[in-house]
Amino acid sequence: MDSLHIIPDGNFEVRYSAGRQNSSPVLFDNNSQTMKLGSNCLLIQMNEKNILVDTGTGLFNPDKNKYKMDYPRLLLSGLKGINIAPSDIDIVVLTHFHFDHCGGCMNENEEPVFSNAIHYIQASEVENAMENPEFYKYWTVFENVLEKNNLLRTIEGNFAIENSIELILSPGHTTGFQYIEFQLNDQNYIFPGDIIPTLWHLNNDNIVYLDHAPEALGVAKNKIIENCIKNDAFMIFQHSTKPLIGKLTRKENRYGFQRIK
Ligand SMILES: [Zn+2]
Repeated sequence: MDSLHIIPDGNFEVRYSAGRQNSSPVLFDNNSQTMKLGSNCLLIQMNEKNILVDTGTGLFNPDKNKYKMDYPRLLLSGLKGINIAPSDIDIVVLTHFHFDHCGGCMNENEEPVFSNAIHYIQASEVENAMENPEFYKYWTVFENVLEKNNLLRTIEGNFAIENSIELILSPGHTTGFQYIEFQLNDQNYIFPGDIIPTLWHLNNDNIVYLDHAPEALGVAKNKIIENCIKNDAFMIFQHSTKPLIGKLTRKENRYGFQRIK
């Protein structure tokens, strides 16, 4: 039977400056002025294939002072816990090139971790990385490694894999960002990734400081929220420690969230 696993890669903290909106006691610690975030990857098992969405941080942390990451990262041990070896992964979907989403695709010997997996990424995300080599210098290494092993597939725009997993190009957080909608056992799911990384980010005023185009992001958020309600879909949060998954509800103009985990 097809199945879905939300696999935590471990927590980290992002510092925020005083005066920043801090309406969520779950996320914000006013004493240390840090925002506490989880980091989750998805394993979708469908058509006897293992499809991994994002690879976590792996060994990478380009700015140790800025991001207090818990180590070791947990994705590989989480996969092992459900009897999945890295070589069992058939497809990797990379939502974008921030290190906490793609860092886990290469090991310390500069070899691909998921050595049998085709890695899907938007062509515009590759272009953006090439145009900003300072910020994305780690990616050029990953790209060489994946390309050398013939594991990289760049796509342009929306793209379906395994019939019911839709990769949706949605600039805003980064220029070539893609999020995922899929159907599994007759249930709809949306994984908005860094467009709506936690429940708190559903509000259009609450954006991530890295968002490069907040207006486009706002449009994408509204579309995702509408689709989620229309399709009675579960929403999964990538950077939440809790809740991880649940359903959005709307009565008149009031929104609610029914968590299941
Ligand atoms: Zn990001």
